[in-house]
Amino acid sequence: MKSTKNQNLWLTVAAIVALAVIAWVSLRGTTQPPEDVAQNAKSADVMSPALFTDAKARAAYQVAKDIPEVLEQLPCFCGCMMNFGHKNNLFCFKDQHGSACDICQDIALDARKMHDQGMQIAQIQENIRTKYAKYQP
Ligand SMILES: [Zn+2]
Repeated sequence: MKSTKNQNLWLTVAAIVALAVIAWVSLRGTTQPPEDVAQNAKSADVMSPALFTDAKARAAYQVAKDIPEVLEQLPCFCGCMMNFGHKNNLFCFKDQHGSACDICQDIALDARKMHDQGMQIAQIQENIRTKYAKYQP
């Protein structure tokens, strides 16, 4: 009786291990993209700038498409990080939130300017904080 139980247990363990290995192998095949593909994937979940008629909104969504790796390292001070669970300024452009939010847009547009000037991310973060932290509700 006892040995049958043990045998069942081992079969279960073996099945779980087999499933885990299969899952691991199949995940491994689809993940690990090269760096530039990972970046495209990131900008892919930003809404298309073409969807917006407002020139400023469109420009801001374009920034999110072009340099998501910069925006995702910047805070947003419109209140969305507290109210909508946004983790950074890039989140504002994954839905329509950024189209009606001046602060989200200004942060993105400013970030692009500084990025184009060759400014380091730490400096951009610092400037954004100095300029926009006071708008946090
Ligand atoms: Zn925001």
